[in-house]
Amino acid sequence: MGKNDFLTPKAIANSIKAKGLQKLRWYCQLCQKQCRDENGFKCHQTSESHRRQMEVFGMNPGRVIEGYSEEFEQDFLQHLKQTNQGNRVSAKVVYNEFINDRHHIHMNSTKWLSLTEFVKYLGRTGKCKVDETPKGWFISLIQKDPLKELDDEKRIRRATAEKRDEERHLALLKMQVERARRERAEAGLDEEEDSDDAWDEDGDEEDEENEDRKRDGKEEGEEPKEILDRNDTLSNSKNYDRSRKKQKLNEFHREGGDQPITLNLNLHTLSANAANMTAVPSAVTALKKPVAIFGVDEEDEEEDEEEKRGKSKEKLKGGERERDRERAGGKQRDADRENGRERDGKRDMERDRDNHQSYSSSRDGKRHRDDGDRASPPLSSSRWDKSPAPPSSSISSSPASAPSALRSDTWLSEGLVVKILSKELESAGYYKAKGVVLKVVDRYVAEIEVISTPSGDGQGDVLRVDQRQLETVLPAPGGLCRVVNARYRGLKAEMIRVDVDRFQAQIQIQEGTYRGDRVWLEYEDVCKVL
Ligand SMILES: [Zn+2]
Repeated sequence: MGKNDFLTPKAIANSIKAKGLQKLRWYCQLCQKQCRDENGFKCHQTSESHRRQMEVFGMNPGRVIEGYSEEFEQDFLQHLKQTNQGNRVSAKVVYNEFINDRHHIHMNSTKWLSLTEFVKYLGRTGKCKVDETPKGWFISLIQKDPLKELDDEKRIRRATAEKRDEERHLALLKMQVERARRERAEAGLDEEEDSDDAWDEDGDEEDEENEDRKRDGKEEGEEPKEILDRNDTLSNSKNYDRSRKKQKLNEFHREGGDQPITLNLNLHTLSANAANMTAVPSAVTALKKPVAIFGVDEEDEEEDEEEKRGKSKEKLKGGERERDRERAGGKQRDADRENGRERDGKRDMERDRDNHQSYSSSRDGKRHRDDGDRASPPLSSSRWDKSPAPPSSSISSSPASAPSALRSDTWLSEGLVVKILSKELESAGYYKAKGVVLKVVDRYVAEIEVISTPSGDGQGDVLRVDQRQLETVLPAPGGLCRVVNARYRGLKAEMIRVDVDRFQAQIQIQEGTYRGDRVWLEYEDVCKVL
């Protein structure tokens, strides 16, 4: 009998295969591969690609399952909405329709063990009206007014942003009061009446200006306007008003001749350590990156909003107006990402801690980020610990958090210089090693050739690392970089400078329609290229 004759087992198997729908239990969700039978599934499980996927899965199984659950729910509700609107239908019927798509998210990869459980979940969370009958569960979608939903979302965003500002405000105030008190003590004048004189002493004043400068991450030669702007927010502080008056009256003098300017973000221990900071923030840890596998790929939603913001920033060049705009833009962005933060709160805190290393810049204007190993003393409970973490760019997995839609969940591309932050690779000496991305495998995994390691050996090794365990490297000013996410993604650019306070870098775009534009981007969206 020939191999492909009518009704041979082989032919039957082939016809089944062609039909598409097969046993759910032999579907590998991670690889999105349908196997035909148990044997096929076993074979698949031993395959190289499946193992690699399992390794990724093993790094964070909880998140993976949570991700599939979110995606499943989203798709299911979408399907329900499209087919039945708000009508009451049998959950089983909807489910059977839903799984008709061969590559639907399979329920056995979600946190729900059965359809009943899932239906109950929908009822509990107020997404559907559910009721049980002798014929099984029936559901009907509760439809919200999309406009109202959007409004709610905006309101929440604004509220959180305001709260954040306020907290930061208070922290700054407190710091000012603290400093005033300290300086008064240093001057040896404890009597309140004489304190004004103490403020007017030249030495004090220079220190103060120095500190301001350090805090603002400014370089020599910039006009003090920026400082005053920033201080405006503090005008209700009596102490601060005084210091402001002085700033208007006095020029900034540098002490210490040609020594490099050092910056220190560690506000409370500032005066003690200001002199010899060398270490620098590993500002954007891989933790900040969206988790592999899930997230939004679409880049269309809310583009308008993002665009408007972007434009207002780019168009107005020069002068304080631009700066004001940028600050406003930053605030808005902060607000946008507020949503994601709630989910990623914990991760943010971790990243935050990393960020509070110090930053150095030498006099020739050469800035560099360095390994955190040599970092300054651990941070005391500075204002950063109290105020909410800087915004994160978490992935959005539901339409409700669409603002980050311009963002992709992947950022890797060939030629990027990245830093490896994989604890798993620490024993092999690759932790905090730098490498260049040779190619991207499966979108989330980079094949990296190591170019430098903390220990000095291991150069030239090739590793595969998930993007979550990588972070971008910022070039020195003038260096070449590429925008790796969000708006401007993929464009070549030149590094202008960084703002250590906001974790942002200013770059000048070198190609495309935006050529020549200078924009501020998050650290994580800019990466050095070779
Ligand atoms: Zn697989």
